[in-house]
Amino acid sequence: MGWLIVIAVVLLFAFEVPRVRLRYVLSQAFPLPYSKILRKNLPAYSKMPTDLQMQLKRRIRQFLYQKTFVGCGGLEITDEIRVTIAGKACMLLLNRSSEVYPQLTHILVYPSAFVAPRKEMLNGGVVTHTNQGLSGESWSDGRVILAWDQVALNSHNEMHGQDVVLHEFAHQLDSESGQTNGAPILNSTAAYQAWSKVMESEYSGLLNAINHHHGTVIDPYGATNPAEFFAVSTEAFFKKSEQLAQHHPALYAQLQSYYKVDPRDWV
Ligand SMILES: [Zn+2]
Repeated sequence: MGWLIVIAVVLLFAFEVPRVRLRYVLSQAFPLPYSKILRKNLPAYSKMPTDLQMQLKRRIRQFLYQKTFVGCGGLEITDEIRVTIAGKACMLLLNRSSEVYPQLTHILVYPSAFVAPRKEMLNGGVVTHTNQGLSGESWSDGRVILAWDQVALNSHNEMHGQDVVLHEFAHQLDSESGQTNGAPILNSTAAYQAWSKVMESEYSGLLNAINHHHGTVIDPYGATNPAEFFAVSTEAFFKKSEQLAQHHPALYAQLQSYYKVDPRDWV
């Protein structure tokens, strides 16, 4: 009997208390300064219909409650950093998921491009260590790493269509399936078949365009591998929606059916 009470108390603290606390957090009004930050750094926010704005604010609150931001390289984490990153990340969840990156726990933010020491396995099994300056990185162990100056730059330059936050969080969605391979979780076998057919054809189209030195709507970095292709396509979907829909209608349709929004409505 005593054990049953102990188990009941443990279960209560493990499951029910966090749920009640989250419900409380979500019931609070969205702080006005946060809305100001969204209007300043997330231009799409002001143009979204009210329903999507409400969804976005709810997910941002959940994101800020559940994830830990860590300032690196001397950077002090501010509300602007937290709300801007959470806002962009949660834009990928509208209309489709009440779960907010369940595997993600930490967002590490550097002031500018950071150096990631890495081991690379080359042909013949030789391991080398290289240092690269990076603006973002996504790890499947629950971490995203970002350079704040790049995040801020992407927020205020809508024209070039790049966005490191959208890019890294697309990788997070991709890795939720257990593999980071360019196919996020889809809800049917038919959806996977349609997805891989379109992605394979668009991916080889990009390789072909690069080989022939043609200009591309999709960032040529997407030619690195299918995972990068999904990440840069996500950037283009949200930031160059009209161009992507016009030049790559099949790819746009796949992304629209996955993300369940049409960012052209916000232009
Ligand atoms: Zn990437």
